[in-house]
Amino acid sequence: MRLKRHKDYKRYMNMYCQTFHFRKPFQVLVDADFIQTALDQRIDLRTQIPKVLCDASKQMVTPCTMALLKSRGEDASGAFLASKRFEKRRCKHQQAVDEALCLSQIISTSNPHNYVVASQSKKLRSQFGQVPGVPLLYINRSNMILEPPSEVTLSKTKQIEGGKTHASTKELATLKTVKVKNNGQVSLDAKLAKKLEEKAESKKAKREAVKAKILKKRQGPKEPNPLSIKKKKPKTTPTASAKPVASEGGEEPEKKKRRRRKGGKGDSGEATTSVGGDESS
Ligand SMILES: [Zn+2]
Repeated sequence: MRLKRHKDYKRYMNMYCQTFHFRKPFQVLVDADFIQTALDQRIDLRTQIPKVLCDASKQMVTPCTMALLKSRGEDASGAFLASKRFEKRRCKHQQAVDEALCLSQIISTSNPHNYVVASQSKKLRSQFGQVPGVPLLYINRSNMILEPPSEVTLSKTKQIEGGKTHASTKELATLKTVKVKNNGQVSLDAKLAKKLEEKAESKKAKREAVKAKILKKRQGPKEPNPLSIKKKKPKTTPTASAKPVASEGGEEPEKKKRRRRKGGKGDSGEATTSVGGDESS
């Protein structure tokens, strides 16, 4: 496994541990086609899954998966034997049901038992992608892949991480309306809280919009560094020399007067007086 991929996988699993409280060894629910594909590609699941998850793992199969493999007869006899070596994950089905249905019921809407799902079914993986906190494994040719966390998982992570450090806008709004009466009774103004919450939300949206605008601007072509631009000389030199002289004259009016008397015979222009001033000082 390439180093970068390994780093990514480690990062993903760390996130599942921190945000969704996954524990080691990771529990991996394996489906029938995953076992079959691994066998076809000569992948040893008991060594390869822990490598991909970057830690110890426990492979599990449901009775429904085993029943499916058994029903496939001779073709899947090797996979059936392999599945027997995995830990059984009991399900509530007395009679074996469709494997996808069985796994869906175990994962439910929040993956309460923190399973990693190893499945070759694209449909099932995209379905579990809608449940926050379900790491997904599949085999592509001879590589085992851990899918990047789904959008739903990422947004849930953001929400949880944000909730750890900040009170939500709703909580803040409610807090502002808390009133304690003289007799110790606490009252809340729900209407006002809702109003404040909406106000805060719209403010937040505005801030996000401004942020997005700034980010968008930065992506465009960069302007040259102002320090690296050469300044235009012909325009700046005359004003630069004229200014300090004028201020000098203002500071020392007596000197200037004398100079004027000196140069009185010549031109009365400023340029001549300034040149004389420079020479004397
Ligand atoms: Zn079942």
